[in-house]
Amino acid sequence: MAENIPEDSVLLYDETPDENWEKAVRKWRWKIISRTSEYTTKRLEGICPRCKHQMSVEVTEGFGLGLITSDSLSLDVKCNCSIAHPPAEKGQGCGQKAKILKF
Ligand SMILES: [Zn+2]
Ligand SMILES: [Zn+2]
Repeated sequence: MAENIPEDSVLLYDETPDENWEKAVRKWRWKIISRTSEYTTKRLEGICPRCKHQMSVEVTEGFGLGLITSDSLSLDVKCNCSIAHPPAEKGQGCGQKAKILKF
């Protein structure tokens, strides 16, 4: 479906916060992709609600990583699709991001 869109129809990079984007991403579930006695690596992935490209974020948590701060319950999740949204370069996503709880 999304594969054959001509390049000139790609959305422009836009960091304007969109609460609907945040709400949609908050419904995604973290998947545990590896776990040892010390570390857990989790991945959040899905289709970006704005640009409809695949995006994913991974986080590793564990003892000794020094992540125990008041901010550690949430994470900046940002669209990181592999399509270039001008004027941004490929790999920077479409600009949408939000603070998402890590569980
Ligand atoms: Zn995209
Ligand atoms: Zn996007």
